[in-house]
Amino acid sequence: MSNEQSPLLPGSSSIFAPVRKAGHVSRPGHVSIWRVVFVFCFLVIPLMLLIDVEMPGLGFGSEPESAKHLCPQTEPLYPVANAKVAQTVLHVLDSHAFLDRAVAALSGAVQIATETYDTLPPLEKDPNAWKEFASFHLYLKKTFPLVHDSLKLTTVNTYGLVYEWTGSDTDLKPVLLAAHQDVVPVNPATIDQWTHPPFSGYFDGEWIWGRGSSDDKLGLISILLAIETLLSHKFQPTRTVVLAFGFDEEISGTQGAGKIAPYLEETYGRNSFAFLVDEGAGLVQQYGALFAAPGIGEKGYFDVRVDVTTEGGHSSIPPANHHTVSFWCLRTLAQAKAGYWHTVPTYRHI
Ligand SMILES: [Zn+2]
Repeated sequence: MSNEQSPLLPGSSSIFAPVRKAGHVSRPGHVSIWRVVFVFCFLVIPLMLLIDVEMPGLGFGSEPESAKHLCPQTEPLYPVANAKVAQTVLHVLDSHAFLDRAVAALSGAVQIATETYDTLPPLEKDPNAWKEFASFHLYLKKTFPLVHDSLKLTTVNTYGLVYEWTGSDTDLKPVLLAAHQDVVPVNPATIDQWTHPPFSGYFDGEWIWGRGSSDDKLGLISILLAIETLLSHKFQPTRTVVLAFGFDEEISGTQGAGKIAPYLEETYGRNSFAFLVDEGAGLVQQYGALFAAPGIGEKGYFDVRVDVTTEGGHSSIPPANHHTVSFWCLRTLAQAKAGYWHTVPTYRHI
C-alpha cells in the first residue's frame, strides 16, 4: 500500500510518486534503523507467542488515566515456554552486529529497483520488463539462507512468493504474514532532487534512504530477518506460518496478490487462516510510545461511476435534487459491500 500521498514535487508527473528529501520520521523515502529494529521486535515476539502459553507482561503505563476506563487495554503478552529463546533473541537485538545486519539486509533490498507503474506491460506480454524481481529473489536467497533451507517456497505467477514454515501441529490454523516486493516508481527527471539517490539504500548512521525503505521492503525484510534469526536459535513453530509476498501491489496487485489469493484458498481451503498481518498504516507516536499499526484485515475496493441525466436548465438554478438520493444510495451500497469506495460522480446537464 502506498501511503505516499503528499503533493508531488515540481517535475514529477502524476504517475510517479513524490520524491522525498529531508530526514523526518514520517517520510517514507527513507527509514530510521530504529524502525527496523522496532518492526523486528514487533514480529519476533508474536511469532514465538504462536506456540506458547501466554502471561501478562509489562504494561506501558503511560496512557492517560482518563482513557483507561474508556478503552481498557489488555496486558502485553510475553513468551513463557520459549522465554529462553526470547531472551536470547532480544539480547541479539541489542547488539551492533544485529544492527549492521539489519541495515545491510534492508539497504541491499532497496538497491534493487523493483518499480511497478501503471504503464508496465503485463507479465505474460513482456517478462523482460519484470526482470528486476528475479534479481530480488536471488538477493533474498543469498541474504536469508536458513529461511530458504528450512521453509517451503512456492512461486505463484513467476514472481509471487509463498513460503511455508510448517508447524509441528498441523491441526492448528496457520497464520499469514504478507508484504509486497514492489515499490512506487521514481520519475527519472526528479532524481537530482533526492538527497541520496532513490535506489542507493544509503545508510547515514540513522536513516536508510531510498524507495521501499519503508513501503514495503521494511516489512518484507523484517519478516524474513525475524524468521532467519529464530531459525538460527533453533526455534521451530508449533503453528504453521505462511508468508505471501506479491509483486505489483502499487498497481492494484492483480498479478501478484490477485493470483496468490486463489492459490492460498486452493492449498489451505476457505477460512483456513487463524489471522493475518500485513503492511498496515505504519508506526505512530502515541502517548509517548511508538505504536505499530499493522494491517490485520483485508478489504477490496469498489469504483463507482455515476452518470446523472437531469432536465435542462442553468446551473445557477438547479432542479430539485432528486439525483442526490440515488448517488448516496449507490455510495452506501459500495461502502457496505467493500468497506471502501472511490466514487467518480459526473453531473451532466442536457
Ligand atoms: Zn505498500
